[in-house]
Parts: sequence; C-alpha cells; structure tokens
Amino acid sequence: MNSSKCPNCGNVLNFSPDFGTLYCEYCDSNFNIDHESQLNTKHNYNNFVKFDETFINQFHCNSCGSNLSSIKDAKVKRCPNCGSNDLAITNNISFVPDGVVPFKISKKRATENFYNWIKKRKFAPNDLKKLAKLGKLSGLYTPVWNFDCSTFTTYRGVGIDEDRDRNGNVHTHRHPFSGKFNSEYKDVLMTANKRISNVTLNQLGNFGLNELKVYNPQYLCGFIGSDIDFDIHSSYKNFVSFVENKDSFKAKSGHFYDRIESFSSNTEILNPKFNYIYLPIWANYYSYKNKNYSCYINGYSGTVKGKAPKSFWKIFLFSLGIGLAVGIVFLLAYFISRI
Ligand SMILES: [Zn+2]
Ligand SMILES: [Zn+2]
Repeated sequence: MNSSKCPNCGNVLNFSPDFGTLYCEYCDSNFNIDHESQLNTKHNYNNFVKFDETFINQFHCNSCGSNLSSIKDAKVKRCPNCGSNDLAITNNISFVPDGVVPFKISKKRATENFYNWIKKRKFAPNDLKKLAKLGKLSGLYTPVWNFDCSTFTTYRGVGIDEDRDRNGNVHTHRHPFSGKFNSEYKDVLMTANKRISNVTLNQLGNFGLNELKVYNPQYLCGFIGSDIDFDIHSSYKNFVSFVENKDSFKAKSGHFYDRIESFSSNTEILNPKFNYIYLPIWANYYSYKNKNYSCYINGYSGTVKGKAPKSFWKIFLFSLGIGLAVGIVFLLAYFISRI
C-alpha cells in the first residue's frame, strides 16, 4: 500500500490503536501495516538518514516553532505541541525515525483517562470537567533519542569517620579508597522535543520499548509526528553526563563513612549507540480563565501527567476546615487538661 487511502472505498485511513492496523471507518476494513517488524538495531553514534518521503507533509507551527509531519491526506487542525492552529506547510528537511512505538491507547480511552485524572484533582474547579469534555486531544509522536552504552569507571576518594572519646575529644580517621567497575546502560531516553522534558517523559512511565517497530509512515495515519528540536550531538552530551552522574553515585554509594572527601571519578564511554524513535503521546491543551494548561497521556500505557487549575474557594474552604479541626482539637485538649 503506497497511499493512505482505503483501497476499497478511497477514504482516508487512520492507524487504529485498538487493532494495530490501518482502519477505514467508512467501510469498516482493516489493513495491516506493510512489512511490520520489530526494531532491534541501533546506529553507532553519528549516523543519520534524511527524509525523502512523498507520503509525508511537513509543516511549521507559527506559534511554538515546532516542525511537524503528517501523512499527505491528513487534515491537521492543531499543533500537538501547543494546541495552536497557526500552521504553515513547509518543506523542511528532517530525519526519518528508525523506530516507532505505535499507539495502543485509543483516543476514547485517553479521553476517559483524562476525565478520571481531572476527577481526582481535589482542588480542580467543578466546571473544569465540562470544559475537558471538549476533548481536544491530539495524537503526537514525540521524537526521542534512545541510547545504549557500556562504561568503565575508575574512582578514588577519602572516607572520613569521626568519633568522640570519653573526654569529648574528636578523633578523625581517614580511609583512602579506590576502585573500578563496568556498567551497562540500555534504552536511556533523551527527549528531542523541547516542549516535552525528560522529566515529563520519565513521569509518563513505560513506553513499551520492547514493542518498538521499524518506522513506517503508515503509523502516522491519524497522528502527527514532531520533528527534533535537540540534535543528536547535544542529546548525546546530556546522555554522557547522565551516565557519568549515575556511575559517580554508584562509586560513592558502596562506601559508608561519615563523609567523603576529595572524591574523583573518571567514566569512559564504550560503544555508544542510539536510535531515533517516535513515542506515542496524547496531548491535551486547554485554557481555563485565560491561563493555558497542558496534560499528556502515555499512548502506550495510558498514564496521565499534567497540570490542572486549582480553585481558590476549594483550597480556602479546605484550609478553613483544617483550621477548624485543629482549633477543636486544641480546645478539647485544653478542657481535658483542666478536668
Ligand atoms: Zn474503506
Ligand atoms: Zn505549536
């Protein structure tokens, strides 16, 4: 299949998270993704492939600056990175992802998860639920650099223990230590989208990387891919500092002293590899009383992470309630102490 149109009736196909196929909602047909296969390879650091897709439209969001990709026939209404509809078609060069974790969570389920999440926000204003029903969820494939490496770390430092003798004199014991070890790092994710931080990515939890598929633009049917904001080199630097910090922490954590002085470690990065992947996220942007909020739903697991407005009155009444309760306890304590 080299188009995103239904071979039976000519209507636009969408990728179905429920079936993992291309689905035609007009004639109720399913079509398999061409040559679907598992992605098990990574590049050695520094290796790209460029987009040369005739199947893909690229456009630019004039509001947040994102470069986005969709299939040619899609009607893209809003930017999945900021919610704006100020979009312009461009022919920017970007990179073909190596892999993609296809959506498993349908828009319907994502919307349900969003409502449930709002319901649990104790301080969210009551009218927010109605507003959330507008359901402006966009299916976004967010770009991520996915790294592996081995490390060899050597370290040295001085452990200090102090004790006090019977006369109150402090005795300091110095314990020089050193060591070396190897570590393995696999599937360390570094966001390439400046609007979705590494923290947000982590909070969204498991993305099912063991189900990573070889990229095929057909997965974009009904969804939008966001282009990279951070290139491989800047992301690689972040990955290296992440790994160095982890190894340095590991080196220190094996030594139990009152404190550690003049610690130094050196981490050698061996065999760094990466691939460039798309991870599925349902993005919801809404405004409430002229303030903008965003909420993300993991398109693989359904985990929700985001910000919700807080109602001043709910917080006020809650605090008042606590204040009263504390007051009553104090009064009771006072009277009981007088009996
Ligand atoms: Zn059809
Ligand atoms: Zn935007």
